[in-house]
Amino acid sequence: MANETTEPIAMIAIDGPAASGKSTVGRLLAERLHYLYLDTGCMYRAVTWAALQQKVAIGDETAVTQLAHDIQMEIFPANGEEDGRHYTVHVAGQDITWELRTPTVDANVSQVSSYLGVRQEMVKRQRAFGQRGAVVMVGRDIGTVVMPDAPLKLYITASAEERARRRTQDRSEQGHIANYDDILADVLRRDQIDSSRTHSPLRPAADAIRIDSTDQPPAAIVNAILQMIQEPVNGNR
Ligand code: C5P
Repeated sequence: MANETTEPIAMIAIDGPAASGKSTVGRLLAERLHYLYLDTGCMYRAVTWAALQQKVAIGDETAVTQLAHDIQMEIFPANGEEDGRHYTVHVAGQDITWELRTPTVDANVSQVSSYLGVRQEMVKRQRAFGQRGAVVMVGRDIGTVVMPDAPLKLYITASAEERARRRTQDRSEQGHIANYDDILADVLRRDQIDSSRTHSPLRPAADAIRIDSTDQPPAAIVNAILQMIQEPVNGNR
């Protein structure tokens, strides 16, 4: 692994399909390491939310791309909000953190994020964030496109059934109507679009460490990663 010196790892890239546990693992890892955390999925969700809000047709690539360039988006730590959020997202000063998690945004986000111009703009903003160092960044293309030089890349998967079960539980805890079969269908549909799109499809970087989270709780995965990062190289340090 890249951490062959005592230098701290500047960037940890985590990718994987929907509800694979990558965001929870990334967030816990960032907390334990005192790193910044960026869930890039929320950026594509924010563009999708804004397009729906402004009644821009999701199929109008030019208009959606323009919106992605113009959008004034800020992402903050949760800062004491007690509603279960892990971070706060503002668009044009409005707190839309929970609006990003609706089934309507779920249903449209993969189309929005398949547009090259949207991706280019989001990747530019993600790289600027990454320049701060000591960052855990989570998404679909972090290890392959956004931060290909990240010294540690993880690719987290789980079975589609387990991912749908987790998403169903999350949704009902958030007070939404959650039907397992509908959610499984949405997870499979998004996997299909995300992994077959032309620009930056979902796939592991060649040098990513692959982790299957189906039967492992996030805390156990985080502990294993921390051990991996901290273990002395070749038995001496
Ligand atoms: O991770 P999350 O489910 O919130 O991501 C929502 C959608 O955003 C994904 O289904 C994918 O279409 C898109 N996405 C992406 N590239 C990223 C992160 C998310 O295309 N780096």
